Amino acid sequence: MSDRYLDFANSGIGGWLTGSLGLPRPAPLQRRADAGGGVVGPLLLGGYGEGRMAAVLARLAAANAQVVHADWSPDVRYGGLVFDASACRDAASVQPLYRFFHQAVRSVVEHGRIVVIGTPPDAMADAEGEAIQRGLEGFVRSLAKEARRSIGVHMGYVDAGAEDAAQTTLAFLLSPRSAYVTGQPIRVSAPVAAAPEALGHVGQRVLVTGASQGIGEAIIRLFAAEGAQVTALDLPGAQVRLTYLAAEIGVEPLLLDITAPDAAETLLADAKSRGGYDVVVHNAGVTRDRTLARMEPREWDSVMAVNLTAPLTITQVLVASGGLRANGRVVAVSSLSGIAGNAGQTNYALSKAGWIGAVRRLAPQLAAQGITINAVAPGFIETQMTAAIPFAIREAGRRMNSMGQGGQPVDVAETIAWLAEPQSGGVNGQVVRVCGQSLLGA
Ligand code: NAD
Repeated sequence: MSDRYLDFANSGIGGWLTGSLGLPRPAPLQRRADAGGGVVGPLLLGGYGEGRMAAVLARLAAANAQVVHADWSPDVRYGGLVFDASACRDAASVQPLYRFFHQAVRSVVEHGRIVVIGTPPDAMADAEGEAIQRGLEGFVRSLAKEARRSIGVHMGYVDAGAEDAAQTTLAFLLSPRSAYVTGQPIRVSAPVAAAPEALGHVGQRVLVTGASQGIGEAIIRLFAAEGAQVTALDLPGAQVRLTYLAAEIGVEPLLLDITAPDAAETLLADAKSRGGYDVVVHNAGVTRDRTLARMEPREWDSVMAVNLTAPLTITQVLVASGGLRANGRVVAVSSLSGIAGNAGQTNYALSKAGWIGAVRRLAPQLAAQGITINAVAPGFIETQMTAAIPFAIREAGRRMNSMGQGGQPVDVAETIAWLAEPQSGGVNGQVVRVCGQSLLGA
C-alpha cells in the first residue's frame, strides 16, 4: 500500500512545500532490500565501568566488517552509537551516559542506530540500582522521540552471563532489519537451549498461518529467501492465491481453517511428518469492528476463535505432543490494539491482549522444553487491513509515531525472523512492538 504523503514530502516540490509550511517530513526508512541486513557502521562504543558487552560487540563488528571507535571524533559520522550502562548503579555512574550522548548524538547518520545496554532492573542489588537501570528505559524512550525519524533507539537489558546470547539481538537492533522498531526495552536472558553453530534460518521447518497475503505473505517470503522449509497455511477460500504464491516462492501450501475442530490434530500430523516444526508463527487474524453495544455474537465469537483460542490450542497440542523440536520457537502476532485498546475493537483487543498473558504464562513452561514463545505487536502496518480504515483515522494512525509513517509487512516479518533465529533463545516471554514508537499505549 502506498503512503502518498511520504512520497510527496520526499519529492522535489513536495520537500520544498512541506519545508516552507513547517510540515513534518518523514524519511523513507531503509530496509534490508535497500541497505542489506548487516550491522550499521562505523560504531562508536562508550560505557561505564567494566563494559560486559565489549567482546560481543567486537565480534559483531568484525563479522560485519565494521570499525569500532572507542573515542568520539567530530570528524566521523557514525552508523551506530552503543553505550554499555550495565554497570551503572547510582546517579554518578549515569553521568558518563549523559556526556557520551550529549557529545555524539549529532554525529549519527540518517538511518543510524543507537543502543543502550543495561542490566535488568530486577537483577540489581538495591533500590538505587534498580531505579537507575529502570530509568534508562525512560532515557531511551525520550531519545527515540528526539532522534531524527529514521533513527532507531533501543534499550537492551542483558542478564549477567547472557552476553553471548545477546549477539543476535544486537545484530538485529543495529541493522536495517529493525527499521520500524524503536523506543522500547528488550531483555536477553540465558538461552533456553544450547544454540547450534550455524547461523540463520537455513533448513528450519516453519509453519506460518494466514500466509496468503499481507503480513503473512511477507513472513513466508522472508523465511523462504533465508533457506527455511515453509508450510504456508491459509483458509480454503484463499486457495487460488496461496497456491500461486506458494509455487512462486517455493513453499508448501496448506489449506486449513485453524478454527476447525480437528485443526490442531491436522497440524500435529503435518509437524510429525516433517520431524517437528522449528518455528510456528501464529499470524492468521481477523477483525470484526463494531462498538460493543452493536456487536453481534458471531462477531465476538469469530475474533476470539481465530485470534486467540485456536492458536492457543494449536500451541498447546504441538508442545504437549512433540510437534515442536528442541530449540523451537513460537511467535504470535498480537497488536497495539491489545496494548492501548481501540474504540470498536473490544473483541479484537481482548484477543490480542490475550497473547500478552499467554506468552507470559507459557514462556517459563516452554523454556523447560527448550522452546521460546514471544509475541510481536504491530502498530499501523500498510496492508489491506489498514487500507480499509476511513481516510482521517488512517492518516492519524500512520503519523502518530516517532517515525511519522506506517510500517511495512516486512518490518513485522523481520522482527519475527530475529525472534525465530536458532541463536535467539535468550529472548523469551516478551512482546516486541513493531510500531515506530506509536504514541498509543506508550
Ligand atoms: P490480512 O487480513 O491481510 O491477513 C490475515 C490472513 O489470515 C488472511 O490471509 C486470512 O485468510 C487468514 N485467516 C483468517 N482467518 C483464518 C482462519 N480461521 N484460518 C486460517 N487463516 C485465516 O491481515 P494482515 O494485516 O496481514 O494481518 C496479519 C496479522 O497481523 C493479524 O493477526 C492481524 O491481526 C495482525 N495485525 C495487523 C496490523 C496491521 O496494521 N495490518 C496491526 C496489528 C496487528
